[in-house]
Amino acid sequence: MAEECSEYIKKIAVLERQIKLMGESRKQEERLRTQLNQTMDTLKEKERQLKELNDGLEQRIEERTRELYESLEQLSILASTDHLTKINNRMKFNILLEQKIKELKRTAVPMSIAFFDIDFFKKVNDTYGHVAGDEVLIDFTQIVSDNIRQGDVFARWGGEEFIAIYDNCTGYQALLRSEALRRLVEQYTHPVAGHITCSIGLSEVREEDTHDTLLLRVDEALYQAKEEGRNRVILL
Ligand code: GH3
Ligand code: MG
Ligand code: MG
Repeated sequence: MAEECSEYIKKIAVLERQIKLMGESRKQEERLRTQLNQTMDTLKEKERQLKELNDGLEQRIEERTRELYESLEQLSILASTDHLTKINNRMKFNILLEQKIKELKRTAVPMSIAFFDIDFFKKVNDTYGHVAGDEVLIDFTQIVSDNIRQGDVFARWGGEEFIAIYDNCTGYQALLRSEALRRLVEQYTHPVAGHITCSIGLSEVREEDTHDTLLLRVDEALYQAKEEGRNRVILL
């Protein structure tokens, strides 16, 4: 019996050791689980930070791209605008004229070109100063801009010379419209420089015309207007 008891005591001791070992491995497991959870939390936080960084980066790239496009547009406006009168400059006009000539060859809708030159403008500058001269150029631009049609093109060719494309307009119609503009300019009075006049050379675009042949013809028409005494319109 005593022997049996001692056997049982031994068994109990073994069992107790096993239980203790199991308890320790459970603790180990809990420790590992806690570590795992912490690592996963850290990973999630890193992911969140990375996403935030990416979102911020994308937003910054979008903003920079928008700014660049805006600058590009401003530059393109600046490159095609006359600084004094704020209308198209010669470069822009030439681009638009090329387009219009192509359009005309496709659609056969008539179109005319008017070349304006302010008469004796040098005298305005010499007598009343450059500032008054600049004001006259701005006012002249305003008069013509206010009285041409939407779809027409108006540009400063350089100095006191301006050029217009009358869209959907035959030579004869262009003559009437230019005559009306010439009269409006004649009626204008600058507070210092007084009255001015302008001469206008005019031509309807022909099917065989190129940019150069057309400009040569309106230049010739303007020359004739000057030769015949200025303040007049000549259609060639
Ligand atoms: P015409 O009747 O033959 O056209 O004579 P004009 O005096 O108008 O022509 P000319 O070519 O002799 O003189 C043009 C003048 O335009 C000379 C120049 O000083 C002046 N001019 C050119 N650009 C500007 C400008 O931006 N502002 C001012 N105020 N004057 C300018
Ligand atoms: Mg001139
Ligand atoms: Mg002139």
